[in-house]
Amino acid sequence: MRKAINGWLRSLSGWGDIVLASQCPLCQRSTSRELCQDCWTQVRQCQWVGCQTWYEPLPVFAWGQYKGALKRTIATLKYDNHRQLASPLGHWLAEAWMTELTTHPRTLTVVPIPLHPNKQQERGFNQAELLGRSFCEITRLPLQPHGLIRSRFTEAQFHLSPQAREQNLSGAFELGTLRHHRPRHHAVLLLDDIYTTGATARSAIRVLQQFHIPVYGIVAVARASNFKQFLD
Ligand SMILES: [Zn+2]
Repeated sequence: MRKAINGWLRSLSGWGDIVLASQCPLCQRSTSRELCQDCWTQVRQCQWVGCQTWYEPLPVFAWGQYKGALKRTIATLKYDNHRQLASPLGHWLAEAWMTELTTHPRTLTVVPIPLHPNKQQERGFNQAELLGRSFCEITRLPLQPHGLIRSRFTEAQFHLSPQAREQNLSGAFELGTLRHHRPRHHAVLLLDDIYTTGATARSAIRVLQQFHIPVYGIVAVARASNFKQFLD
């Protein structure tokens, strides 16, 4: 009898997985896609209209504005373990980036901004690496997922001022596989999920420049139009 009940419970939990897998993680309506149609439409409405590249001083390309449904989707990907969301976001980022480029830079290597190993172990994945894999499926650029490593654990950035962020991130990165597998005649294209004050990117760029590795620019799924928006 106990065996029969256990079997029934196992089959029930299997059903639970199927039901959960077909729910939109943002609104819980049933869907066969990563998000339901309504939520996708809302995410796409967050795409920047017009220019998506800023020069400060390297090119920063962002797909969308860090707000509304896009902000919720990134949070769901990172904090609720919905890593399947990285695939469409990375594809959209790649398609938009390639559209804006006038010449396709074939000599780039994509390096995602790394998490500290403790943070990655806690989360189970690095969202920038997943986005990078998806981005490279479309762009066909080579990816060095561990090109850089985060050698110093940094305080959570959320409540820090732009100046404090800069200090917090100073010396946070080191060369990873780029130390031994330095792409010849290639520049690095950094990739992150969110670009806010640019403190993270600047810290990574400083390390690459110390080793005379050229940096082409940064691509990010979302960019806050101002720092205050990030805190909202
Ligand atoms: Zn939905």
